[in-house]
Amino acid sequence: MLEKLQPLINYIYIIASVLFVIGLKMMNRAVTARKGNLVSAVGMALAIIATCLLMGMEFRWILVGAVVGSAIGAVSSYAVKMTAMPEMVGIFNGFGGLASMLVSWAELVKWRSMGWEAYARTLDPGGNASAVFAAVAIAFTVVVGAVTFSGSMVAFLKLAEWIPGKPLLFKGQNIVNGLIVLTVVGGIIYFCLDPVSPAAYAVFMVLMVVGLALGITSVIPIGGADMPVVISLLNSYSGIAATTAGFIILNNGLIVAGSLVGASGIILTQIMCKAMNRSLANVLFSGFGAVTESSGTAVKGEVKALSAEDAFYVLEAASSVVFVPGYGMAVAQAQHVVRELGQLLEKNGAEVKYCIHPVAGRMPGHMNVLLAEANVPYEQLVEPGDVNPVIGTVDVAIVIGANDVVNPAAREDKTSPLWGMPIINVDEAKTCIVLKRSMRAGFAGVENPLFFKENTRMLFGDAKASISALVSEFKAE
Ligand code: NDP
Repeated sequence: MLEKLQPLINYIYIIASVLFVIGLKMMNRAVTARKGNLVSAVGMALAIIATCLLMGMEFRWILVGAVVGSAIGAVSSYAVKMTAMPEMVGIFNGFGGLASMLVSWAELVKWRSMGWEAYARTLDPGGNASAVFAAVAIAFTVVVGAVTFSGSMVAFLKLAEWIPGKPLLFKGQNIVNGLIVLTVVGGIIYFCLDPVSPAAYAVFMVLMVVGLALGITSVIPIGGADMPVVISLLNSYSGIAATTAGFIILNNGLIVAGSLVGASGIILTQIMCKAMNRSLANVLFSGFGAVTESSGTAVKGEVKALSAEDAFYVLEAASSVVFVPGYGMAVAQAQHVVRELGQLLEKNGAEVKYCIHPVAGRMPGHMNVLLAEANVPYEQLVEPGDVNPVIGTVDVAIVIGANDVVNPAAREDKTSPLWGMPIINVDEAKTCIVLKRSMRAGFAGVENPLFFKENTRMLFGDAKASISALVSEFKAE
């Protein structure tokens, strides 16, 4: 029966894989992103159907898992605040790793209890399964899955601020990590030599524990400001773990889906490192942020505050305005009033743009999502590379709850931890108005000389309240 269904199952997996690729491609552009998500979800539903067919009568348990998982996923996506999205992505990555780790454990138990011959037939009724291949896949999956799970949990705790976001460094950290890696390599080799022996089972358990430890020790020393990169890297690891789990059970759908996640995660990681002008090795091993408070040149100058009324006069006279949103806009949920102010400025004859830094907010695409929710036209969304060359001609740059991504110390102060990170050069606009509640530093904990510049004015207060006040001023005119 299963042999008859096999070609059909393979076709369904191929269609599902094609839908994943099309969905990913559509997520490249904000206009098509929602549909892309839907296309990928249809692909996943098809993959689940194919797997149920493959399992014959055992499919009940898959359905139970799919129903319970979908319910948890749906409720948590509705309940989660937009600002807590990175934590949620972190947890999901972790559970992906945990699932792969458990698959490898379950498969090893099955192999040991059934013996190779019978177990191999469950993998491939055609008799093409290889014991060495299965052993290598089991060993890799348990390690990568465990690293992904525990690393993601630490990243989650840091982002949720349940543990300090600062890098936690201890003496000899790299030596400890090196020893763990050596144990992993030795353990994998030993395990693969005779995977069903009792000693190999003990080694498998050691690999699991050491993998969990490696996840913790490799994420703990990374600062909160670098967590987006880490989350993206862990996302890639969860894909790799899924791929290797797919190699254990010889499931084409899982191999393709895992590879896509693995590859897209690593590409996003590269893009984010480039946006911060840092190498991946620097992000992972430099303990960035550990010395933040003591480094960087002390900022001198006077802070000039202005009222909403004064800000209105500046804006009323402007013929070009660039909004630069940051994390504070998400906290204040100011996107709708920002859009309203943008429309009023356009009505007043100004050219309006919204410039988005790749790491603004707390997750990749955070600002794009919020502005899209407020129906800001896509053609008004621009990147730092479009705005920086002409920023000198911009009349007013309005910074809405952004801090690190507009910090000129990245350009001016070699001792600053932000040195070298590409920023939006709002300090070079004719006038820069910064909306925030206090003089507190941003995520990286670095003081911002922008607030002390000659052409900068601070509009203190909650971003939504300040923008609403500006909107009222325009409407009153
Ligand atoms: P920052 O965290 O640098 O600054 C945000 C600013 O918003 C704060 O200085 C805060 O000042 C202000 N703020 C907070 N709440 C409000 C409010 N209600 N109204 C007005 N202002 C408010 O944000 P950026 O977007 O500039 O930079 C992002 C940082 O986060 C980078 O360091 C990045 O590496 C990191 N990061 C990025 C992630 C991503 O994927 N994009 C994920 C995780 C971290 P005040 O308290 O005075 O109001």
